[in-house]
Amino acid sequence: MRGKLTLLVPVFNEEEVIEKFYQEVRSYPELCQLDLEILFVNDGSSDQSALVIQKLIEQDPKVKLMNLSRNFGKESALLAGLSVIDVTQAGAVVPIDADLQDPLQVVIEMLAKYQGKVKMVLAKRVDRGNDTLLKRLSAKWFYKIFNQLSECPIEENVGDFRLIDHSIVKVIQGLPERNLFMKGLFSWPGFKTEIVSYTRPARAAGQTKFNFFKLWNLAIEGLTSFSTMPLKVWTYAGLLIALCSFGLALWMVIEKIFWGNPVPGYPSLIVAILFLGGVQLLGIGILGEYIGRIYFEAKQRPRFVVESLITHSDLNSVE
Ligand code: UDP
Ligand code: MG
Repeated sequence: MRGKLTLLVPVFNEEEVIEKFYQEVRSYPELCQLDLEILFVNDGSSDQSALVIQKLIEQDPKVKLMNLSRNFGKESALLAGLSVIDVTQAGAVVPIDADLQDPLQVVIEMLAKYQGKVKMVLAKRVDRGNDTLLKRLSAKWFYKIFNQLSECPIEENVGDFRLIDHSIVKVIQGLPERNLFMKGLFSWPGFKTEIVSYTRPARAAGQTKFNFFKLWNLAIEGLTSFSTMPLKVWTYAGLLIALCSFGLALWMVIEKIFWGNPVPGYPSLIVAILFLGGVQLLGIGILGEYIGRIYFEAKQRPRFVVESLITHSDLNSVE
């Protein structure tokens, strides 16, 4: 390939797997003969991750470490890493997890497809057997709903693991948003894309950093960032309910004229009140989701804070 290949590795408390990850990269001669760079982004780890990476940097000038000032989340860590990629030169970036769930063999397959002049190669999971049933089902529904609502569809079962050409990195560096859903942002620029399939293995060691609520929030982030349909749907829901109530009113007049009014209706009244109350609260809640996000965008706070960027030469000059 032309130019540099950067492996962009977000790290949050991964001390047990970093060394293994590094050795795995080094065990692939196809990768080592490239102009390779391993950029670890330490997303505010509280364990020894930074130290482990610094040891690697001492031995290997191709390893770099960006320390963020606290835990900003994987999406921000990826963006932080992308922000220091030199897009004036040819090359590509592969965001890859530190826990060896993204196999390096797949990177080699992606590189082979990349030669064919595409701008992005996606790594698609064909088997989610290592995920829990809940995660598999919720992921399936998420992709279904997202692709129905969003004007920019994303490929099902493709995570952040992919090969991104520098021209797409350049576009992403220029995107101003604070609410980050990287999978969506990666596919937003478009361009020619290829896919390679792989089976996702289990974590090499340690625990997943994503619980149900983090994933739920990510899903809401994705939907609200890429679609305004949840906002607009209330116009139609309101219209439908108004039409129904008009029909009901008409029916009550007819009923009164022909059969008189026996004054029943307590249950239907309470059901209507509760139903409408629920619908209104839901609508207000969805408004809140969007307004909250507009509020964050309006504040224009930085999306991450870089504490330090450590390279081989920095460590040597300290000694
Ligand atoms: N990660 C991160 N910041 C976070 C959470 C996760 O940088 O706040 C990193 C983590 O260290 C790992 C990658 O993101 O390299 C994927 O995380 P994990 O393996 O926990 O996610 P899963 O594979 O379970 O979806
Ligand atoms: Mg993982």
